[in-house]
Amino acid sequence: MSEVNDKLVELRKEVVKGAQTIYSKGLVENGEGNVSVRINKNEILITPSSNRYEDLVSEAIVHLDLDGNPINSKSIPSTETKMHLAVYKSRPKVKCVIHNHSSYVTMLSVLRKNIPVIMEQQIIFLGGEIKCSEITEAHTEAMGPSALNALELNNAAILANHGAIICGKSVEHAVRFAIILEKLAKVYWGALQVGDPLTIPEENIKEHEKMFNRLFACYPRKMRKE
Ligand SMILES: [Zn+2]
Repeated sequence: MSEVNDKLVELRKEVVKGAQTIYSKGLVENGEGNVSVRINKNEILITPSSNRYEDLVSEAIVHLDLDGNPINSKSIPSTETKMHLAVYKSRPKVKCVIHNHSSYVTMLSVLRKNIPVIMEQQIIFLGGEIKCSEITEAHTEAMGPSALNALELNNAAILANHGAIICGKSVEHAVRFAIILEKLAKVYWGALQVGDPLTIPEENIKEHEKMFNRLFACYPRKMRKE
């Protein structure tokens, strides 16, 4: 029992650290975005609604089952919890989900633009071309399937007229991917101002895809193409 409690205490701290890192990197403002972590097959922890990142404490992190029912938690979970739960349900390997409204990703989301494969690190860490989802209403049940469709096998997607969703095998991975995604969106946006960005040729992609699959991918094996 105490082992379970120790794990919970540790994971709560990880959520706080992840949330405060994306805040310190400027990927979220107070009151927006959310970070969650998987505890086991049926339970997660998620940042509370109306989160003030600099004041966030472990005790405020909300414990839920995968149907969204609170477990010994008084705080109200993030309004975008349904989308997190949808990702955990259909992707058993995902350990952390981050949602944010970082500026450059959100600019592309308003244009509903995918990010083609323009940087090698994008393939290794995020999986390849970053897709933009179909438009849905924020905070609704529809956001989950729409986010999952855009994610495909990747670790990140753009949410139409909204922001980003990122997932990973650990909080550390997901935080890193959120930072990489915003940088990538910034590079793409900047390149678009000057001309037509060129993509990485197909023959240079294979090896990077292998690295992605070996180190960072967290989609179910059955989803794999080929
Ligand atoms: Zn949002």
